[in-house]
Amino acid sequence: MPNKQYRLAARPVGLPKDSDWEFVTEPVRDIGEGEVLVKIYYASLDPAMRGWMNDGKSYIPPVQIGEVMRAGTVGEVIASNNPDFGAGDFVSGTLGIQQYGISTGRDLTKIDPDLSLIENYLGGLGMPGLTAYFGLLDVGAVKEGDTVLVSGAAGAVGSLVGQIARIKGARAVGIAGGSAKCAYVVDDLGFDACVDYKSETFLKDLKEPLKTGVDVYFDNVGGEILDIALARLNRHARVVICGAISQYNNTKPVRGPQNYMNLLVQHARMEGFVVFDYAKRYAEGVKELAEWHAEGKLKFKTHMEAGIENFPAILLKLFSGENFGKLVLKVRED
Ligand code: NAP
Repeated sequence: MPNKQYRLAARPVGLPKDSDWEFVTEPVRDIGEGEVLVKIYYASLDPAMRGWMNDGKSYIPPVQIGEVMRAGTVGEVIASNNPDFGAGDFVSGTLGIQQYGISTGRDLTKIDPDLSLIENYLGGLGMPGLTAYFGLLDVGAVKEGDTVLVSGAAGAVGSLVGQIARIKGARAVGIAGGSAKCAYVVDDLGFDACVDYKSETFLKDLKEPLKTGVDVYFDNVGGEILDIALARLNRHARVVICGAISQYNNTKPVRGPQNYMNLLVQHARMEGFVVFDYAKRYAEGVKELAEWHAEGKLKFKTHMEAGIENFPAILLKLFSGENFGKLVLKVRED
């Protein structure tokens, strides 16, 4: 069986280029003792993949040159030498940008295709959903009556942060790029307001929705928007550093927050987190996210793209804002 794969060929400087990738087709090898062969249907394209391509110390080792590009995936077990998995089981796991993956089973989680579409286990019931859930509830310690400001509000994580804030009785104010995304965030997802950061009137437009200040700022983008949020904090506000996508392709040093002294003035807290910190509590998070989804309180939106060959160009959509919803790559035709 041929297995199409993308491997990392070089460490990118700035936005990843075609020459940073190698597209390979190789036969699937036989599985060994305890191993599981998974036919991959969908791969998750995430902003974090850009960081995994860099050398250096991080919360997870970098992808090595020549290695299959790391990515979350969902698929079906088609052969197993592991008693915990059998042919026909649907699973999620970090099997990479390829059409078949072999695992010891340690990093695989069974998923229920009857509960939800399997691609949702890469989105609202997967890593982005759990990031929003633990980031807002645990790190952000959201409570009723708070005003929650979230950037990247139309994206995989941000769209869920605002919806969970509303479920918890808080006000949700989003920041997103463009009027179509902002309209979706308010009209379809039920945020109280959304402000377009690409508009010339951005700062003026923020005034009304934030007239009572910000109790929780959930930061997905960093850079200038983080500074704007820091300047609007209320007393004892919580700033959740989830991501900084505006900085991931920098060729110059990352821009740090200028307005951080407002943390002192407002007795506020700024804390970074990585969703993997909550691995032991994933089941609890997925259960509640699935319940809210089934009750119609939490909407998921997938931006599906087809064709493993097109992976390099599709990944870039995250950084241009062309994705509208959780970006997922369909890696096979059948
Ligand atoms: P996403 O929001 O679905 O997609 C990325 C979005 O970022 C784009 O659609 C674009 O939206 C926005 N963006 C791109 N460049 C930007 C810029 N220069 N300034 C402002 N916005 C920009 O992606 P996601 O998967 O939900 O990830 C969102 C953030 O969460 C990322 O920073 C990611 O690294 C982080 N994250 C962290 C964890 C963790 O464990 N800490 C886990 C998952 C994700 P617009 O069209 O609105 O600009």
